Amino acid sequence: MLCKFFVKICFLDMAAFFEASVEFLKGVGPQRAALLNRELSIFTYGDLLQHYPFRYEDRTRFYSISDITDEMPYVQLRGTIRRVDLHGMARSRRMTAQLTDGTGTLELVWFQGIRWIAEKVKPGMDFIVFGKPTRYGTKWTMAHPELEVPGTAVESGGSFHPVYPLTEKLRARHIDSKLFSRLMREVLHQAAGRIRETLPRQLCADKALISRNDALHAIHFPPDLDTLNRARRRLKFEELFFTQLRLIQLKLLRKDKFPGQIFNNTSFVNTFYNEVLPFPLTGAQKRVIREIYYDMKSGKQMNRLLQGDVGSGKTIVAFICMLIACGSHAQSVLMAPTEILAQQHYQNLSRYASAMGMPIALLTGSTPKRTRQEMHRLLRAGLIKILIGTHALIEAEVQFHHLGLAIVDEQHRFGVAQRSKLWSKSDKVFPHILVMSATPIPRTLAMTLYGDLDVSVIDELPKGRKPIKTVHRYDTHRLQVNQFIRDQVKEGRQVYIVYPLIDESEKLDLKHLMDGYESVRRAFPDYAISIVHGKMKQDARTYEMDRFVRGETNVMVATTVIEVGVDVPNASVMIIENAERFGLLQLHQLRGRVGRGADQSYCILMTSARLSAESRKRIDTLVQTNNGFEIAEADLTLRGPGDLMGTQQSGVPDLHIADLALDGDILREAREAAIEILDKDPDLRQAEHQVIAARIRSQSKSSMNWSRIS
Ligand code: ADP
Ligand code: MG
Repeated sequence: MLCKFFVKICFLDMAAFFEASVEFLKGVGPQRAALLNRELSIFTYGDLLQHYPFRYEDRTRFYSISDITDEMPYVQLRGTIRRVDLHGMARSRRMTAQLTDGTGTLELVWFQGIRWIAEKVKPGMDFIVFGKPTRYGTKWTMAHPELEVPGTAVESGGSFHPVYPLTEKLRARHIDSKLFSRLMREVLHQAAGRIRETLPRQLCADKALISRNDALHAIHFPPDLDTLNRARRRLKFEELFFTQLRLIQLKLLRKDKFPGQIFNNTSFVNTFYNEVLPFPLTGAQKRVIREIYYDMKSGKQMNRLLQGDVGSGKTIVAFICMLIACGSHAQSVLMAPTEILAQQHYQNLSRYASAMGMPIALLTGSTPKRTRQEMHRLLRAGLIKILIGTHALIEAEVQFHHLGLAIVDEQHRFGVAQRSKLWSKSDKVFPHILVMSATPIPRTLAMTLYGDLDVSVIDELPKGRKPIKTVHRYDTHRLQVNQFIRDQVKEGRQVYIVYPLIDESEKLDLKHLMDGYESVRRAFPDYAISIVHGKMKQDARTYEMDRFVRGETNVMVATTVIEVGVDVPNASVMIIENAERFGLLQLHQLRGRVGRGADQSYCILMTSARLSAESRKRIDTLVQTNNGFEIAEADLTLRGPGDLMGTQQSGVPDLHIADLALDGDILREAREAAIEILDKDPDLRQAEHQVIAARIRSQSKSSMNWSRIS
């Protein structure tokens, strides 16, 4: 814990005051300090001040007991204790007290900390109580209410009482919002004159931001709603500003420090474009290729994110970039998150590569040892120009003659550490890095997660694609859906039917899928039906897949293994069973498997009739829009940023007050401000920027080495 204390950074100020252990604050002491450390990671005065309320209660209003209704979440009442009783023994002990205010009686109940409460609450005493009323028959009760003796209510200042994030353990030990208010008052009192401004005066003026000192006071003790809102905005802005500043500095630093291999020979690209490429590129594809080419010949290392919705044609862009590297005799890798996807990339690109006479290879976990060793030799000799693979290709034995470009597909599935391993594959000059994301990332998240990368977006689908029609059907309409499938198959189309993974247990999931398969066979006895799932042997899976790709089967029953990978233009119907069990982005990815040919495609989301509000929202979103970015935004709002990217490791910064799902506008402003300042003064030397520099110095003491992450 001691070590954690030292690692913990003081966000507020370099001044030792804010790094003092909370233990020494009046009203805390060693026991409470230990609890605050453990439960809320509050170690220092600075941490405490940054423990912001998550909501505020309006305590100007008192209710009568007779006014209480079922709809009230929290109420404040004033009354006198009539009697106090203890019930039960040991663990089932509880204490009750009857509170009357002349209009009725409310029973207060405690299950924990009874000894302590019994000392405080005696018959005849007057209290202001605050809590959530619950009805038992005709009786109203309130469990573990907050209590205040009338007349001392000034404790928390204005009429907005802050409510702090707490844990059960803290509550059981009587560390509640009221105590927090007391501690905040104490720490703010001692901090008087010590809270330094962290943003330049001009910036505060331009953005109408109140001072840091005022904001910290107002966030804990808001005098009115308007001041509270201004305090929030100021603190959010500051938090986002410093996150952005760090990312942009990192980007500038890399541009400055890391030279890039210069690739300026486009002869292969020209040949490919004029003689091999079977379709014209979209305007967006051309634009991003130009952006990437500009990076690759700039002499600086490229670190670029390529975003594009499913089906927008990122793979061909990747291939053309590889041809640019080939033009200067460099090798390229394309790393995919799954074996199936790596195989599909390999199959697709092999056609193009062989037409160009470009040696290409596939390296995955299931590549036999012999082949693998031979491949290692060819790679070291520089005889393989393009290597496609999975994680297997970042293993240490894989060495290159001259690696010039590393492309990572479906970025979000890779950990940051895995990506950074790609860097070490080239000993002299780092390879250029292109990260491709099929998951449209909401702008706010992209700015925070990849704020240090340059971004290219393919915002256009290839011509001739008809938007997929998406509908929602209840299981009770299965007969109509089956009829629709028959009609489509009659027209020569193929159909996917996808089942979710429901149970943790593979056995049950497989049973669920097999049951589905059986019912599909019964419903369509005259159709050829493929089945593919994760538990099948690789060659069996490939066999089934190939039959479907060649059009020998009409229906493909599958689990989400088809989420990435398969590309069958003739498949125009996607049925998703138990659609309520899938996440939004996953549904969008699945839907992206159809709509690749010239025919009208359909996606049918099957659900039971009973849907939670959130599931319904997901389904409706999908029915309403085909736009991956809109879907990603909705997902962010529904689930929150941490969830979207998969917890902490995802690199979503630890934000205390800003919310990436809600504060997009402030984020944009903060990012622009950070860019503007670094443009003028990249090393933060100007006098007016010293406040920023000081704050960064105090922050960077413990921040990890970001410069290696891309
Ligand atoms: P994603 O961006 O989802 O990876 P792909 O690269 O798999 O998309 O491309 C989807 C399909 O569109 C592929 O069959 C590809 O050959 C095709 N495609 C890509 N670009 C174009 C284009 N400009 N015109 C027509 N078809 C294209
Ligand atoms: Mg792709």
